[in-house]
Amino acid sequence: MTFDDLGLSEALLRAVADQGYTRPTPIQMQAIPAVLAGGDLLAGAQTGSGKTAGFVLPMLQRLSTTASARGNGHRRPLRALILTPTRELAAQVDASVKAYGKHLKLASFALFGGVGFAPQVAQLRRGVDILVATPGRLLDHHARRNVDFSAVDILVLDEADRMLDMGFIADIKRVLALLPRKRQSLLFSATFSDDIRALAEKLLDQPRTIQATPRNSTVETISQRVHPVNRHEKAQLLSHLIGKNRWQQVLVFTRTKHGADKLVRSLEADRIRAVALHGNKSQNVRTKALADFKRSAVDVMVATDIAARGIDIDQLPHVVNYDLPNVPEDYVHRIGRTGRAGATGEAISLVCVDEHGFLRDIERLLKRPIAREVVPGFEPDPHAVAQPVFANRNRGRELTQKHAHSPAAPRGQHRAAHGNARQEPAHQRHTPSSSVHNRDGAQSRHHAQPRSSNVVTNGAARQSRSHSATSAGKRMGIAGR
Ligand code: AMP
Repeated sequence: MTFDDLGLSEALLRAVADQGYTRPTPIQMQAIPAVLAGGDLLAGAQTGSGKTAGFVLPMLQRLSTTASARGNGHRRPLRALILTPTRELAAQVDASVKAYGKHLKLASFALFGGVGFAPQVAQLRRGVDILVATPGRLLDHHARRNVDFSAVDILVLDEADRMLDMGFIADIKRVLALLPRKRQSLLFSATFSDDIRALAEKLLDQPRTIQATPRNSTVETISQRVHPVNRHEKAQLLSHLIGKNRWQQVLVFTRTKHGADKLVRSLEADRIRAVALHGNKSQNVRTKALADFKRSAVDVMVATDIAARGIDIDQLPHVVNYDLPNVPEDYVHRIGRTGRAGATGEAISLVCVDEHGFLRDIERLLKRPIAREVVPGFEPDPHAVAQPVFANRNRGRELTQKHAHSPAAPRGQHRAAHGNARQEPAHQRHTPSSSVHNRDGAQSRHHAQPRSSNVVTNGAARQSRSHSATSAGKRMGIAGR
């Protein structure tokens, strides 16, 4: 199947060709005709599947070929609303709308918190056909009467599972109550929990349901490895691996924002260029961190799951789980950032004794074991005793039975099933993260000691980097975005 077979207009086909896309992805093959047909849609798809074009292309076609039936007096009424969990994703989806709509006369705008209101108000006054927004800032503008929902024909919830994880459900419901009842609604989610199904029930009217395997679901093409290590030697081991193997473009996942910052400091002490990407950073800092990583000005980006979610930095050569995720599906999402069609990527997990239960859950999900490889000089203490990863037992609805009895947890110690939800604040306005502790508590003491001679830093590694910028940029699939 080609894009020509999907019923898209000539202007959109040209824009798709400009992007260099030759074939629609599976989600696009299914979603584009479904959305063009006008009904509601429930789609299972994750970052990397091509889902954005899956809803943006048919949305653009519908908006460009029909006039607003509910002109609200504004010469350019808001007709489509796309809600996203993160600012980065909003900016990225808006960039896609602009790219795919470049031969059309539709205006789009990304609206999110962390930046000033005034320019946003000015843009909203000028008129916008398509708004890509995070829920908190959108509601703030609605409360100030800067935005009018009365002509909205199409609503998209993008990465709905993450929106719920991040505590946006109340805001989503508030937005839904403000929209015209008669509209087309599309819900995209990587996973389908009971909460997502309940939301879909409320939001969607006789939806078509489609499911696409992610582009990188081929876990087989990704080389996976576990390095068992003591919890307080993880940072040192990471520096060692980066230096020895001369890795560039390494995406490292930590469980918490605090853990991400601490790790960046540690890497920098080893003269490895690193940045952190998480919700405690100002928007400008986050944008710069991402840009620096994409243009290879830094070698390592340390991110929390939610911060990394949605941003277009897949197809990296190396993904490192500095902390194993406690939600096994997040492991698949994370390692899906590496590898690409026909090439192998490398996903490495630094696993200490506290995380053996998480590892077992992940292997159960993958239905296969992951190879263990002890790095000489970093042998884990065979007598080490597991410590609980989550210190706060009262995480309410985020706990699940499944993880409450995870084997590595000491008796009675609960594990949170959606630790990510705590890493990033609802609305990204508040930061209630102090109740979550990464138990790598010994790390700060460890860093006060002289660093290991195992750490290969950095001269040779630096010299080998001449090829890095272009090839890494290509690997990341960021060209044209
Ligand atoms: P998404 O899942 O929407 O975030 O898209 C992931 C990446 O795939 C983005 O870099 C898109 O530009 C790219 N992409 C989307 N559709 C296609 C396609 N049909 N062919 C090749 N790349 C695509």
